[in-house]
Amino acid sequence: KVNIMWFRRDLRLKDNAALYHALKSDKPVVPVFIFDTEILDLLEDKKDRRVAFIHLAIEEMQTELEATGSTMHVLHGTPETCFNKLLKHYDIAAVFTNHDYELSAIERDKKIAHLLKEYDVAFHTYKDQVIFDKDEVVKDDGSPYTVYTPYSKRWKAKLNDLYLRPYPAKKYFHNFFQHAPIKIPSLHAMGFEASGEPFPPKRISKAILEQYKDQRDFPAVHGTSHLGLHLRFGTMSIRALAKHAQQQSETFLNELIWRDFYQCITYHFPHICKGQAFKREYDFIEWRYDEADFQKWCDGKTGYPIVDAGMRELNTTGFMHNRVRMIVASFLAKHLMIDWRWGEAYFAEKLLDFDFAANNGGWQWSAGCGCDAAPYFRVFNPTLQTEKFDKDLEYVRKWVPELDSLDYPQPMVEHSFARNRAIETYKKALKDR
Ligand code: FAD
Repeated sequence: KVNIMWFRRDLRLKDNAALYHALKSDKPVVPVFIFDTEILDLLEDKKDRRVAFIHLAIEEMQTELEATGSTMHVLHGTPETCFNKLLKHYDIAAVFTNHDYELSAIERDKKIAHLLKEYDVAFHTYKDQVIFDKDEVVKDDGSPYTVYTPYSKRWKAKLNDLYLRPYPAKKYFHNFFQHAPIKIPSLHAMGFEASGEPFPPKRISKAILEQYKDQRDFPAVHGTSHLGLHLRFGTMSIRALAKHAQQQSETFLNELIWRDFYQCITYHFPHICKGQAFKREYDFIEWRYDEADFQKWCDGKTGYPIVDAGMRELNTTGFMHNRVRMIVASFLAKHLMIDWRWGEAYFAEKLLDFDFAANNGGWQWSAGCGCDAAPYFRVFNPTLQTEKFDKDLEYVRKWVPELDSLDYPQPMVEHSFARNRAIETYKKALKDR
C-alpha cells in the first residue's frame, strides 16, 4: 500500500504540513500533481504566465524528488479522472493534501473524498497556506469576525512560536516511494506556452522589511515584497515569512493578517464565491454596463494618469502596486459606475498573484460592498492620490510617457460629476434596505 501526497497550492517539499504528515505515516508516499483541466480550460491566454510558473515549480520539485530516488506523478485532466487512474495503478491507503478554502475547491475536494471512500481510501487535509484558518480566530461567541482590526488583534494575541514552527518534512524524505523518473507533460502538450520572462525572486530583502512601513505606499519605489505569487502557489512557506515579519516589521505582518482574514471571510461567507456582494443590499446598485468605457479602463486610456499607469503596469507585467490597485478599482466602481465584478474578473485574468480571496476582498472593499469596506461616500480622488503618493509623477511617467503630449486623452469623466453620481446611485440603492 502507498499514500498519495496531492500538491495544489503548496508547491514545495520543505515545511509543508500535509507532506510532513504523509511522510511520517508508515506507507511510502507517492507525490502527485494534477494540471486540472477544469481550471485550465477557463484560461483564454495560452501564454498564461501562471501556468508556466506552476510548471517551473513542479520541475524544481521534480529535481529534488529525483535526488531522493522518487518522482512526481504529474497528471493532466480532471481530478476525478486522474484519481480513477491512480486508484487503478496503486493500492492506496490514504490521500494527504492541504486545505483550500474557496467554494469550488471545497466542492472538488468533497467529490474526491467521496470517490476515495468508495475504495475505502482515507482523505486527510491540513492547514498549510495560512497561519490561522476556519474557527481558530473568531469572536467570543464563536462567530467569525467581519472587521479586520479586532480580527487582527485576536490573531496577534493567539500567535505563538508553535504556529510558526516549520514542519520538518526533510527528516522523512526516505519515505518517498522509490520510482524511476517520470516525465512531466510539457506546457506545449497541454496547450500552453512558456513566457520566458523571469518571475519575482523567492526571497525578501532585509532592507524592504525594514523600510516597508514608510515605503509601501509609493508605487515608484520598490518598497513591497512582490511575494504574492509565491504565497499564492505555496512556493514559499507562510510560516517562514510570518516569522520574518514578526521579528522585523509589524506593518508587514499586518498585511499577512489581511491575507488570512480574507481567506476566513471566503470560508465563512461562501456567497461571495457566487458573484454576490458581501453586503447583499449593494446588489441593488444600478451599475453601468458600458463596454466601451470598460475597455478604456482596461487599456489604461481613461485620461486619469495614475489609473492609466496602473492598468498599463498590470497589462505589461502582471503586477500592480497595492495603492494603485485601490485607486483603479475605486475608479471603475465609483467614477465609472461599472460593476466591480467586471474589474474583479479582469484582475483575475491578468494578475500573476491572483488569489480569489484577496482579489474579491480588495474589489469589494473598493466598491464599498465588502466586509469592513471603505464607506460608499468615500470616493478616492485620483488627482489627490497622485499628489500624495506619486508627487513627482515618477510612476505615472514610467507607464504614461506621452503624458504631456496631445496624444494623451482628456479625462473620460469629470471628477466632481462622477463623485456626485456615485453617491446618489449608491444612496438610492441602499435607501430603506
Ligand atoms: P506586500 O505589500 O509585500 O505584502 C506581502 C503579502 O501580503 C502579499 O504578497 C499578499 O500575499 C499579502 N497581502 C498584502 N496586502 C494584502 C491585502 N490587502 N489583502 C490580502 N493579502 C494581502 N493580493 C493578492 O495576493 N492577490 C490578488 O488577487 C489581489 N487582488 C487585489 C485586488 C484589489 C482591488 C486590491 C485593492 C488588492 C488586491 N490584493 C491582492 C492585495 C494587495 O494589493 C497585494 O497582495 C499586493 O499588492 C501584492 O504585492 P506584494 O506581494 O509586493 O505585497
